[in-house]
Amino acid sequence: MAAAKQRPKASAESLPFGAEHYGELRRRQIARMAVTYLAPLIILIVYYQYRYIGFEQDSRRVHLGAIAEHQANTLDLFLTERRVNLANLIDHPRFAVPPSSEEMQEYLSDLRRVSDAFVDLGFFDSSGVQVVYAGPHPSLESRDYRGEDWYVTLQRSADHSVITDVYLGFRQQLHFTIAVSRVMDGQLLVLRATLDPARMYEYIESQQAAGDVITCIVNAGGVYQLVDGQIGHPLDNCPFPVPREQHFGDGTTEIGSASQQYAFRWLRNTDWSLIVQSVAEPHGILGTLQPRSLMVSAGLLLLAVIVIFNRAGKLVAQQKETDQTRAQLEHAAKLASVGELASGIAHEINNPLAIITEESGLLMDYTDPQFGHSLDEKELYQRLDTIQKSAFRCRDITGKLLRFVRRTDFDLQEHDVHDVVDGVVDDLLGPEIEVSNVRLERSYDRLLPKLTTDANQLQQVILNIINNAIDAIGDTPGVITISTSRRGNEILMSIRDTGCGMSPEQLEKVFVPFFTTKEVGKGTGLGLSVSYGIVRGLGGKIEVESTKDVGTTFTLVLPIKQKR
Ligand code: ADP
Ligand code: MG
Repeated sequence: MAAAKQRPKASAESLPFGAEHYGELRRRQIARMAVTYLAPLIILIVYYQYRYIGFEQDSRRVHLGAIAEHQANTLDLFLTERRVNLANLIDHPRFAVPPSSEEMQEYLSDLRRVSDAFVDLGFFDSSGVQVVYAGPHPSLESRDYRGEDWYVTLQRSADHSVITDVYLGFRQQLHFTIAVSRVMDGQLLVLRATLDPARMYEYIESQQAAGDVITCIVNAGGVYQLVDGQIGHPLDNCPFPVPREQHFGDGTTEIGSASQQYAFRWLRNTDWSLIVQSVAEPHGILGTLQPRSLMVSAGLLLLAVIVIFNRAGKLVAQQKETDQTRAQLEHAAKLASVGELASGIAHEINNPLAIITEESGLLMDYTDPQFGHSLDEKELYQRLDTIQKSAFRCRDITGKLLRFVRRTDFDLQEHDVHDVVDGVVDDLLGPEIEVSNVRLERSYDRLLPKLTTDANQLQQVILNIINNAIDAIGDTPGVITISTSRRGNEILMSIRDTGCGMSPEQLEKVFVPFFTTKEVGKGTGLGLSVSYGIVRGLGGKIEVESTKDVGTTFTLVLPIKQKR
């Protein structure tokens, strides 16, 4: 009944570790695989995203540079044309000096037909006074411009022309000036036109690809000449550095936390630099990432995570299976070593059984009137007492056996290592050793600290090794010496015998399952392989030295504290 009840339990118990252990194993596997597979993947993704951003920035830079070149050429052409318009007038053989008001008016309307950027037109005699004026502000006529910068520059100009920066003139309106000169009979004659920069801006804006970019123009001092209302005001300082010594170039300016790329190109006609920047909002790193490539990356990562979880689950299942097999093997080996024990134990049990049989036989004889012998109470008590003591002795022995053979999980407790050995040597093997030709010696280091271990499992290991030693000694008298010592954080327990020893070939194979040199029925070849598994499970190892015909030493190396 009891056995039937225990059976289903045995299969559940055949796993030596609890769910917590496997949970931990799974977590570790996942962490390890995450480091091996996920980390390189993430590094690759980040690397390619950065490469992509760099590539995109490069191509945007090239694009901006091309637009800047195109627009600068257009603007140069525009300014050249306007200058030539004026030069054609003043250099014309039929140009009257000074022209009449009507002629000037006609010239202006001719110019405006060519370009609506022209606002007004003035003619200056050699004294620098505007003698004839055509345009919306007749009050400017007869003003003296001799001290004006542009006039001074023009006097010295090699190509007889000047283009000024944009300025707020007398009329508080943005404009700039193109003036051309001609020397006639030693007199400097000047024709000057005012132009509206807004018209020029419209002209640039109408060019191809202009929609992609925002264009502005700065002078040599970094002051806006022309600028889109979204990004600044004329005559304000421009935040983009445009080095004069470079004919063209590009750069990036930080605007808040985002960066804005731009390209610039200096004009040939005047000291202005044309700057273009993307219309797109300035953005930080995250804004640059492509949603599509981010999705692909996220998909890859997700796939990797699924694979990792899957793999970890499978590995844990595999480990469970291995543990189960190992546990079953251990159990079988345990039974086998008990079998080896049995011969010794049988002797022990036979003695009390013989006593019980003998005493109970005697008591039965006394009850037979045929013998006529009567039994006094004192003698009866003594005989029954002997029977009971013998029965108890048997129960003790079988109890010890049962306790040993019972399946247990690793049950870590603090133990005095000597109690553990003595439990094997005195309780389990005592009777067998007593009747054998083996002398047992103990050389214990009594100062050893307590050991955190599973006593039952460790006892099985010690029993296996001592049984082997007894077998190795065989019929000739021999000695088994058990000694303990400490080495750092480990306790060493060596079991030395003066038995037959092993050849190097044998020594190599001792831990191999089913390797045995014993006759069928005596050895299973499982004792040492299982012992090795147990000691590994306890965080230690088994070392062995042996010399043929001299003896063998097995040393258990056990950590004092268990690492969990
Ligand atoms: P079994 O005892 O069933 O043969 P073990 O795994 O316990 O299996 O031992 C394997 C083999 O190792 C033994 O058959 C024996 O040849 C050798 N061996 C183990 N211990 C000793 C020892 N103390 N002295 C000599 N040989 C030994
Ligand atoms: Mg053995």
